[in-house]
Amino acid sequence: CGIVGYVGGQSAQDVVVAGLKRLEYRGYDSAGVAVLADGGLAAAKKAGKLVNLEKELKERPLPAGSTGLGHTRWATHGGPNDANAHPHLDNAGRVAVVHNGIIENFAVLREELTGRGHGMVSETDTEVVAHLLAEAYSSAGDLAEAMRQVCRRLEGAFTLVAVHADEPGTVVGARRNSPLVVGVGEDEMFLASDVAAFIAHTREAIELGQDQVVELRRDGATVTGFDGTRAEVRGYHVDWDASA
Ligand code: GLU
Repeated sequence: CGIVGYVGGQSAQDVVVAGLKRLEYRGYDSAGVAVLADGGLAAAKKAGKLVNLEKELKERPLPAGSTGLGHTRWATHGGPNDANAHPHLDNAGRVAVVHNGIIENFAVLREELTGRGHGMVSETDTEVVAHLLAEAYSSAGDLAEAMRQVCRRLEGAFTLVAVHADEPGTVVGARRNSPLVVGVGEDEMFLASDVAAFIAHTREAIELGQDQVVELRRDGATVTGFDGTRAEVRGYHVDWDASA
C-alpha cells in the first residue's frame, strides 16, 4: 500500500517511519521496516497501526544504518499478521523487499522455489520476490540487474523496492502499473509510492515510467528498462502545499 526507501546520511529507520506516517491516510493493516547496518540486514514488522511497529522498535531497536526501506500493507494474499507483513526476506536474511500490488503468477514461482529448497514463512504473493532476488543476485552480483531479471518473470501490477546486505549503499525500485517516485535530495535519495512520504526532505522528484528499474545511491539514480536499456530521466519540482 505505502512504500518508502532511503539512502543517505540520516537514520534510515527514522526517515522511513516518518515517511510511512505521511502515507497513513491511505489505510493499511500492518507495517514494517528494514535497514542495512554492520554488513547485515535487520528488519521489524508488526500487524496493526504504525504505533505497534514503533513500540516494537523501541523495545528491540534495530542497529543504526543509513540505507533502508519500509511498507504499510493492505493485505491481498494472506491475512494481516506479523509474518505476512512486509518487508519479506530470503532464507539467508540478506535481501529485503517490499511490494505494492499483486504478483499474479506467484503460485507457480513459489512451487518452483520450494522445489529448489527455498523455505517460505508467509502466505503472501510477495515473498517469492525476495527468494528470486537472492538467486538472481548470486549470479548477477548486482542488485539492479537482479531486479531486472526478476521483474521479467513477474506477472501482474507491482511496485517493488529492495535492498541487499552486500550492497549497503544501494536501494533498488521497480514499477509496473503501480506508482513509484524518486525524491532527489542533497547527498541523499528517497523512493516512495507517493511524494508525500519525502516532501519534508526534498521537492525535487523523478517519476518512474512503466516497466522501469531505478538504482538509488546517495549521489544519484540510474534508471533502466526491465530489458536493461538506459532510460531518460525527467525531473520535476513538486509545488503543491504539503505542509498539512
Ligand atoms: N499483495 C501483497 C500482500 O498482500 C501487497 C499488498 C499491498 O499492496 O500492500 O502482501
